Amino acid sequence: MMRLPPFRYIAPTSVSEAAKILKEEGPCAMLVAGGTDLLANMKRGQQTPEILISLSNIKSLHDVSNSSGLTLGAGLTLGSLLENDSIRDSHTGLWQAAGVVATPLLRNTATIGGNICLDTRCSYYNQNEDWRKAINNCLKKDGDTCWVATTSKTCRAVSSTDTAPALISLGARVRLVSADAERIVEMKDLYQDDGANYLQRHSNEVLTEVILEPLVGWRSTYWKLRRRGSFDFPILSVAAAVQTDGGGTIEDARIVLGAVSSLPLLSTEATEFLVGKKLDDDVIEETGHIMAKLAKPRGNTDLTPIWRKKMVPSFVNHALRELRGDDVRELRKRIAHQARG
Ligand SMILES: Cc1cc2nc3c(=O)[nH]c(=O)nc-3n(C[C@H](O)[C@H](O)[C@H](O)COP(=O)(O)OP(=O)(O)OC[C@H]3O[C@@H](n4cnc5c(N)ncnc54)[C@H](O)[C@@H]3O)c2cc1C
Ligand code: SF4
Repeated sequence: MMRLPPFRYIAPTSVSEAAKILKEEGPCAMLVAGGTDLLANMKRGQQTPEILISLSNIKSLHDVSNSSGLTLGAGLTLGSLLENDSIRDSHTGLWQAAGVVATPLLRNTATIGGNICLDTRCSYYNQNEDWRKAINNCLKKDGDTCWVATTSKTCRAVSSTDTAPALISLGARVRLVSADAERIVEMKDLYQDDGANYLQRHSNEVLTEVILEPLVGWRSTYWKLRRRGSFDFPILSVAAAVQTDGGGTIEDARIVLGAVSSLPLLSTEATEFLVGKKLDDDVIEETGHIMAKLAKPRGNTDLTPIWRKKMVPSFVNHALRELRGDDVRELRKRIAHQARG
């Protein structure tokens, strides 16, 4: 059995206190929310903080406000988002994405903030310390070679968060608070193409809330590919949101691929192609091909990269057909093994 290494545990009751501790303690301190990812990583020695600053006693991080749009505290559990009917009705893609993270037990502990900041994953990295030492470690931690792309100077570990693609498709923003300042960042700009340094978030910042606009005339959806429907991480996901006029002509669209790169991939080409068109079969098929060009899966997660790339047009097809109004409930259950929707 793997045990947690020793660490100091601090549980502040306000964001300002948490940010102050982060500033004072520097890189040896990390925030912990539900701990469903970080604690397992600590057991495997992937992440080695000496101090954990728990966010669970900060009441403001559990607030939901739907006065104008929707503001979600970063400490809300994914399970609690699923109980919220207004999220289901107005930001369906987020609700569907939250509903397919891990298992019910984990979703009742895992938070939306933790899911957004989730560490990238790689089959050469998500191993215990002895396993990693046996291959001389890798670029992401303690080594100097990337075993997935040996000539790469950058880690190619996979962005495996389910909610981030959905939030990007919904045009969400997040508030980041440090001891000295605060800023609002668009979710599409939060991630960078480096699996070792995958967030634009500074290490002294607390992500405090997710801000979603009211989204009049928009519909959204989330489709996830994984080996086992019961709890696996995504190996491809498609988050799609479209805004249409009364006659079904697309006024705006955002389509995002998850789990096929070190960051979620928003396609500007798909948006430009879709605006002004209706979701007929030809348009849906062509959008699938546009999205497939963007996907860069590698051999560092489950199943083969070639097959995962081949699945992109099908999953874009399912998503856009659902947004068009087709009844895809049986398909969702059969292909993606997802009961929700
Ligand atoms: C068996 C298993 C299956 C899983 N399957 C999935 C899956 O299918 N899809 C998926 O997306 N995830 C999956 N996960 C990973 C994880 O459970 C979720 O991503 C979860 O949402 C992480 O949230 P948390 O609150 O537990 O984060 P934590 O583990 O507490 O933290 C994760 C990271 O986020 C940082 N962090 C947390 N909150 C904040 C904040 N407010 N501000 C700044 N930084 C913060 C932490 O410092 C840490 O780096 C799985 C985990 C397990 C164990
Ligand atoms: S992609 Fe390369 S550097 Fe990154 S975790 Fe995997 S092997 Fe390590």
